Amino acid sequence: MLETEREQVAAACRRLAAERLVIGTAGNVSVRSGDRVAITPTGAILAEISADQVSVVDLDGALVAGDLEPTSELDLHLGVYRRYEAGAVVHTHAPMATALSCVLDELPCVHYQMLLLGGTVSVAPYATFGTPELAESVLGSLEGRTAALMANHGAIAFGADVATAVEHSVLLEWACGVYWHAAQLAEPRVLDENQREAVVAAAIERRYGTTKPAEPE
Ligand SMILES: [Zn+2]
Repeated sequence: MLETEREQVAAACRRLAAERLVIGTAGNVSVRSGDRVAITPTGAILAEISADQVSVVDLDGALVAGDLEPTSELDLHLGVYRRYEAGAVVHTHAPMATALSCVLDELPCVHYQMLLLGGTVSVAPYATFGTPELAESVLGSLEGRTAALMANHGAIAFGADVATAVEHSVLLEWACGVYWHAAQLAEPRVLDENQREAVVAAAIERRYGTTKPAEPE
């Protein structure tokens, strides 16, 4: 059941570990297919995880395939699927994101690529890991966005598919690094509303982020 999605979850975990966004057993990934979700088990070393270790649950969280107990953040993942148009969810304790989650109330939109995350990134108020309170807090912070920081905890991102969710996670960590470095020098400038709208208009006009055949001379 969900063999492709279980392989996608395992491959995403290995990629995130290689990017140093997840360390040891901390972090979790899920991919949805219809009313089933392939999700990392609790306690697995993410750099070494294999598809057969990935659990499959229904949208109520009941285990329908796999031998291992799903991640303790199961409610958080399922909540994202219930509330948002998501095909995959990634939660990490990535170093830059986690550091900034300890001091910021929001990550300002300092770079236009952050518009892929929804612009300004909210920091969800702290609650104990694995609780409904944490899930509720984080779901609220994802409103109108594809990523959020989680106060004194880490980061979450989602996307239409697993590749997009992973890219959003990598992009968020990069943006946190940019902000962190800039803030060492002076208060970073923030893109205003007009500048953000101009980026959206230019991106649509130029189909930014897609390859295009060169115009013949
Ligand atoms: Zn966590």
